[in-house]
Amino acid sequence: MEKKKKITAVIPCYNEEAVIELFYKEICRAAGCLAARADFEFMFVNDGSSDRTLEKMRALRKKDKRVCFLSFSRNFGKEAAMYAGLEHATGDYVAVIDADLQHPPALLIPMFDAVTMEGYDSAAAKRITRTGEPKLRSFISKGFYRVFAKLSQIEVVEGEVDYRLMSRTMVNAVLQMSERNRFTKGIFSWVGFQTKWIPYENVERAAGKTKWSFWKLVKYSMEGIIGYSTMPLALVSLIGVLFCICAFIAIIYIVIKTILWGDPIGGWPSLACMILGVSGIQLFSMGILGQYLGKTYLEVKNRPIYVASLVETNEAEEAADGEAEPQRKKQGL
Ligand code: UDP
Ligand code: MG
Repeated sequence: MEKKKKITAVIPCYNEEAVIELFYKEICRAAGCLAARADFEFMFVNDGSSDRTLEKMRALRKKDKRVCFLSFSRNFGKEAAMYAGLEHATGDYVAVIDADLQHPPALLIPMFDAVTMEGYDSAAAKRITRTGEPKLRSFISKGFYRVFAKLSQIEVVEGEVDYRLMSRTMVNAVLQMSERNRFTKGIFSWVGFQTKWIPYENVERAAGKTKWSFWKLVKYSMEGIIGYSTMPLALVSLIGVLFCICAFIAIIYIVIKTILWGDPIGGWPSLACMILGVSGIQLFSMGILGQYLGKTYLEVKNRPIYVASLVETNEAEEAADGEAEPQRKKQGL
């Protein structure tokens, strides 16, 4: 018989005290269905929560050693939490999944079938509906992915969410991309590999509320575009060239007009408008340049992606025991 595989589920959590136990129950049910074929490890990542999320994780680990957790020293964001979880995962397959039950744990079963029996490297979920989501958010979100696809030439599937199961090879490839400005959907697509898309109906949060404000989403979108496309830079150069051509034509027109009909004073309002318009475009272009420069600056600093203040995993425990052993021997215990 084939050796049992191990699946690590990485669960980023930020102020999720209201759902974490519910989530644990649900994922245990999915793990139960796969029990004959796979063992589970639940890697919870506490992303600097200010509620009792960490205590709940501790309590879960006390009763179930499959539960491991990391805790950040502050809120570093979901992207950093996913990276940390992937880094500490020890499974042959690793899944990333939200804690709020918007990503049904039962989907892990067809996902596991896809990577073990159908020859895929990863299986990812895509929402086919957006029921329950504010209309404005759906509209902006759809618009962003359309623009992103055009600008970056990286495929992000309509309705893609950060819920997928990956093979160890793919996880290692994702970990190699250690950039600070992380946009995971872009990273998953960039590393390639065969992905099976599994559709599902959107589900509303089981409890608690979304951590994404409008501005957080705008920032996330910018991260995506700037991280995966240099098209805006090319675009502003193109606008610059177009303006030069317009200016050149206008100069020729003015010179000819002056030679033929003299130079009547006037036209300053149009001049003022032109100056305003052109300087606006210049500032806008500089802003785009600044965005790229800013991101480069942050990458060059090479800061860690996250800082963990606490790591309670089975591996860390074994390592600590290993270190304690010689100590005990030395002390004759
Ligand atoms: N999350 C996180 N750090 C953050 C924001 C969110 O770890 O700074 C986690 C959150 O706990 C949840 C997942 O990311 O497990 C998705 O967040 P949320 O449900 O708020 O996003 P939405 O589903 O509304 O897009
Ligand atoms: Mg959610």
